[in-house]
Formats: sequence, structure tokens, C-alpha cells
Amino acid sequence: MMASISAIAQSQFYNNPQSNHGNRFEDLGFLLPTPNEYRTASGAPGPKYWQQKANYDIDVTLDEQKNYIYGKETVTYFNQSPDKLDYLWLQLDENIHNPKSDNNTDKTNKITDHLTNSQILSFDPSQKMEGYGVNLTKITDAAGKTLSYTIVQTMMRIDLATPLAPGQQIIFKIDWNYKINNKAEIGGRGGYENFPEDGNNLYSITQWYPRMAVYSDFKGWQHEQFTGGAEFALTFGDFKVKITTPADHVVAATGECTNLKQMITPAQYDCWTQAHSSAEPVEVVTLDEAKTAEATKSTATKTWVFEAKNVRDFAFNSSRKFVWDVMQIDINGKKIMAQSYYPKEAYTLWRKYSTKIVAHTLRTYSKHTITYPYPQATSVEAANGMEYPMLAMNYGRTEKDGTYSEATKYGMIGVTIHEVGHNFFPMIVNSDERQWWWMDEGLNTFCQFLTEQEFDNNYPSTRGPAHLITKYMRLPKDQLEPIMTKGDAVASVGSNAYAKASTGLNILRETVMGRDLFDFAFKQYAERWAFKHPTPADLFRTLRDASGVDIDWFIRGWFFGTDPVDISLDSVKWFRLADNNTAGFQQQTFRTLGQERNKVDSSIQFDTDKDTTLRDFYYYNRGADAMLRAGDQAIKDTASLDRQNFDTWKTKNFYELTFSNDGGLVMPLIIEWTYKDGSKEVQRVPVTVWRLNEKQVSKVFIKDKEVTAIRLDPFKETADINEDNQNWPQMPMPSKFQLFKAQSGGARGQSTGGNAMQKISPQKPTQ
Ligand SMILES: [Zn+2]
Repeated sequence: MMASISAIAQSQFYNNPQSNHGNRFEDLGFLLPTPNEYRTASGAPGPKYWQQKANYDIDVTLDEQKNYIYGKETVTYFNQSPDKLDYLWLQLDENIHNPKSDNNTDKTNKITDHLTNSQILSFDPSQKMEGYGVNLTKITDAAGKTLSYTIVQTMMRIDLATPLAPGQQIIFKIDWNYKINNKAEIGGRGGYENFPEDGNNLYSITQWYPRMAVYSDFKGWQHEQFTGGAEFALTFGDFKVKITTPADHVVAATGECTNLKQMITPAQYDCWTQAHSSAEPVEVVTLDEAKTAEATKSTATKTWVFEAKNVRDFAFNSSRKFVWDVMQIDINGKKIMAQSYYPKEAYTLWRKYSTKIVAHTLRTYSKHTITYPYPQATSVEAANGMEYPMLAMNYGRTEKDGTYSEATKYGMIGVTIHEVGHNFFPMIVNSDERQWWWMDEGLNTFCQFLTEQEFDNNYPSTRGPAHLITKYMRLPKDQLEPIMTKGDAVASVGSNAYAKASTGLNILRETVMGRDLFDFAFKQYAERWAFKHPTPADLFRTLRDASGVDIDWFIRGWFFGTDPVDISLDSVKWFRLADNNTAGFQQQTFRTLGQERNKVDSSIQFDTDKDTTLRDFYYYNRGADAMLRAGDQAIKDTASLDRQNFDTWKTKNFYELTFSNDGGLVMPLIIEWTYKDGSKEVQRVPVTVWRLNEKQVSKVFIKDKEVTAIRLDPFKETADINEDNQNWPQMPMPSKFQLFKAQSGGARGQSTGGNAMQKISPQKPTQ
């Protein structure tokens, strides 16, 4: 993100960090790359914006006996860049399971007591990776001539005999195979899960084919290694994939199945047709059919054909354990199949919620971003949470009797919204997660939060509300990192890239911009960058440019910094105007000897005595202007400075409040006043109140009524980490022991770091 020159520029920019008048309100300036003809200063794609394209034609066989994938692909790569390319980079993601890959040897660890078996293995994961990794059996050009290539762990460079000129395309072919990982044994974002009770596998075949790396105007080739952490950067293209599986498997995949009628029974195909006009999900493969299929294993095969246009990836799931239900929905006139595939182990929960949650997710995201552009969206119960175009893998197994806990229910709904939501970020708004986790995880978690809150007004969202991020923001500085930290260098991915980034967007929406301005700007970003490759600068610039709100102070503090918000109400002083109308504002009582002599000199007749029309408000009230100027601007502007008005001011209460910025990050002042008569008022002072002094400010507020209490941030919307210094008079805060007692009535455990929720008690699903 930051070029080396920016480090120098930045140090000049931060010229006086100790000053009261620091740099928190400066433009993002050197922190962002210079706008150019590819990316404009307004955050939109520029007039010469370009991106590459890769089409894939793939034949793949899933060998259930050996747990192997055998693939052959033909890639057509279009060089739409202005550059000639001497070589191409591809991703061989399955090489993360190659024992020699750095990600199996670069983990830090220490010997501790109480080691479990798996912890011992984690010292040297390469030991359990023998036999894994991608085997390339053929790489040729379209004519069958072998191409030379070099493998760099999870990346591969193919050298071109003739450079690929701008505007040209190249066709090449790759044959490969690999041993599929058992997820329970060696982990992985894909792989298979074995069900010992019936002996069947559920396959998640993901990042499984040699995939084109992204070549862009801002990075060149993106070939940072895949370590299993920071996810993917991918090029858009069209896919045609023929998937050969055991004949009794049901396959869920990216895209549309073009030979579905041959893949399922006529009765099932009738159900599929019926689902196009049903308001409720229809089971195409029923629970009974799935249970029957589990009992035997076919040795025959069949070949499913899927096609997908303008997607950045392709994944599939395959198993004979799947129940499959479908419902067609309509979003802004577009017909979309919402679908779910799940084993019997998840049936009661998934049958009730999954497809309806898929539908709700597509509708809500479409409202806040762009209308969902693909023909279908699928959620598969695969005991994890991972996203691909039109295909999301989620979790949510029930107890054996079909009941499920509250934690499982909300975990399942939350993860389904999240992973299906990833269709928008990064599958459509195609950011680079290898570089910036938060660009899709943060934006997607923010939209997940909106979607949860629109599902149920009392939905227990864990990431989004400002007050839930304070636990993380309160950590010591050496445990915090900026959101703008590169991919795999982020230590606290959940708290940082997901929670803090999504919370930042929520604060922009609810507190800094307001919903109308934010929603317009956020939608602009999605519309501008749908089916393109945005960078952080494009997001920040669009949000500012479209909203008309200067948010650089917030972006600088929240995304580039680690300072928390901690605004303290230091003091409250109460003033009233003195009763005496001539002395009321008279601040200067000292009179010179000359003034006294003039007063008794009978030869002097003062003009203001001779002509009393020369007397005004100030004649009677010296110093009034200074006093009023300190007051509330709005009230001052309406005041006409006459005698009658002074009588009005006499009844007012003037409160001088002093605030300190103890945390570092500036925020608007949100003040709740409680009056003597019991009524309350919330007043908002813009963040720019801190512009001339970022450390301490005082401000006078004029009130008709007497104030009995003042509280800062009453809705906990600024992520202020310290509630002890926000009240006047000082309120006793419950100690930790009291707090524990107060919550023991069954409140939900909220966690900043993840979706983990306390299991309360198994709950019978209501039907
Ligand atoms: Zn995610």
C-alpha cells in the first residue's frame, strides 16, 4: 500500500506529534497513492482503467476410493493491460499441504506444559503433510508444445516463448492431480470430512485448479504466498466445468448445472421446476432420499456440467449425504435460485432457516450494494465457513435428536449471512484479500451486521456495534495493529480485519455521516467497483467524495492508527448572569484617574448623556459581547443586542464544559443533558471542535433549564474505551464483581473476537 517514498513524506507530515495542534485533521495526503488515469482522486475507476480476464474449461474427476482429484484445464488468458507480458503467474494453492512450503515451517512456538497431541504436531506440521501437494503432469500451449515453468511453493511462473502483447490472448493447458486432505487430520479451507457412522465423505473442493494470479495497475503480479491465512486475489472470467463423481453423489457448485435433467430423477426434476414458483423452499433431494443414498456406495460415475459467467473462482461440494432444497426469489425483477445442501446431521436447523437466510442475505445486500447479479446462490453445510462465487460453505449441526442450542442457531445464521454475503465482497467487488484482509472481511462483516439487524430487531450481533469493539481497543498498544496491515502480518484477524473494520463503517454510518449520506456513498463504492479490483484508496476516496463529509480524520485514526477513543469530561462550571443590569457584564471595574476627573469636570458634557439615543445594550452591559461569543452560536445569532434581550439572558444557565482527549482518536462530542425537571436532551458537537486543539477543549452551552447530570456518548456509539470519565456528577461504576452479579441472570456472553457464543441450553426447535 505505502510506497517507500511515503515513509519520508509521512515523517515530514508528522512534524510535531507533541503539539496540541497535531495532524489528526490533515488530509490523508501521502498515506494514499497518487491518483492516476486508472484510479481517480474521487475514488472511481479512471478513464484508462483495465483488468485482465481468464476463461477456464475444466474436466475434473473426484476419485472417492483414493480421495484424489484429477484435473485437466484449458485456460484462455486475455492481456487487457497496456503491458507486454513475458511470463504468467498462477496459483497452486494446494501446495500449502506440500511439506516443503514455508507455511509448514515458519510458525513460531515454545515448549509449554500440558501439550496435547495436535500441539506437538503443530511444532512441525510438515511431518503430517507427506504425499500432499499438487502434481503437475502436463503444461503445454494450445498446440501441445510443452511450456517451461517454475514452481515457487504455492505460486507457479509459466515462461512464454513470445511475449504476450497488449490486446492479445493466449491458450494453454494444464493436467494435474492431488491427494485431497482430510480436514480433521491436517486442516485446510477445503478437503473432505468423513462421517464414521455411515462411512461417507462430504467433499469441499476449493482452490483446487491452477488459477491465474491477478496482474494489476497497482501491484503488477500478485504472487504473495498462500499460507492458509490471508485469502485470495483472483481474475474474472467464464467457466465451463465438467465434474465426474460417483453416480450417487449430489453436486453443488458455482454456476448453473446445464445437464441437471440427466443428473437427477424425473420426480426430483419436477420438484426443481416446482421450486421456481414456490414461496417456501422445496426439497429436490429429500431427507429420505439422502438417508437411502448413504446406505450404499455406487461404483458407477456420472458427469455434472456447470457453467458460470464473469466469476472470479469456481468451487464445488460433492456427497451422497446431501438433502437439497431450493426456492426462487425475485430481487428488483431478477430471478434467483436460493439453495441449500446439507447432511441429515444438520437437517432440522437447516431445513428451517438456511434457504430463507440465503434469500434474506441477497435481498439486504442488494439494497445496500448492487442487485445480486448471478442466477443462483447456494449454502452448503460443510462444518466450516468459507466463500466462493454463488457457493458458500457453512456450519450448523444439531444434536442427535434434532434439537439445537441457541449458540448453534445464531452461529449458523450469522455464518450463513457472512459467507453468502461474500458474494458481494470480494466475489463481485473484487478486492485483494492476500493484501488487505479487511477490504472484504470488514466490509462484508459490516453488511452481515446490517443483515442480522434487519432479520430480527433483537439479533445478538457480535461485530458492528461500537461498544463491542472497546474490549479490543483497550488492549495495550503492543498488542494492537492498524487495520491497514498487510494480509498475513495481521495477528488478531478476527478483532482487527473483521470486527474493527466493520465497526468503523458502522460508526461512519450512525455517528459521523448519518445513514443517508453513508448509504449513498457505500452504494456508490459497490456500483463503481462491481466486477472490478478496488484498493483501499478507492474506498476511502469514494466514501469521502460521494458523502461530502470530510472523513480523513476518521480514516487516518481508525484504519491507519491504533489509538482508541477515550474522551473525558474533566470539569463542568455553571454560570448565570449577574442580576444588576448595569454591572451584569461589567468585567472591567477599574477606572482611571482621568475617567474620575472627567466625571467631575463640569465643563465636560458627555455626548451619551446629551443624546441618550446614543446609548445601546453595550452602554449598559460592558463586556457582554465577549460573554455571549463564548455561548452557543445558534442562540447568539438569534440574539438582538438590546436591553430587553439582556433580561432574557439573565434567566439562562451557562455551562462551561472541559473535555480531554485521553485516547488519541478524536470523535464528535455526544452529550446527554439531564435537567432538573427530569427531561433529557442529546446534543451533538461536530468532531471539528477538536480542530485547533486535539488534546483539550472547553465549550460553553446555554440552557434554559438547570442541568442535574451530564453523560457523554449515551448510546455508546463512539467506541469510547472508558466509561468512568464520561459522567457528571461522577457516577459510581459497578466494580467487576458487581458487574458479574448483574449479568448472571442469563445475559448472552458477547465476544469481540469471534462468533463464539455461550451455550445456554439445548432448545427444542419450534416447527
Ligand atoms: Zn469472511
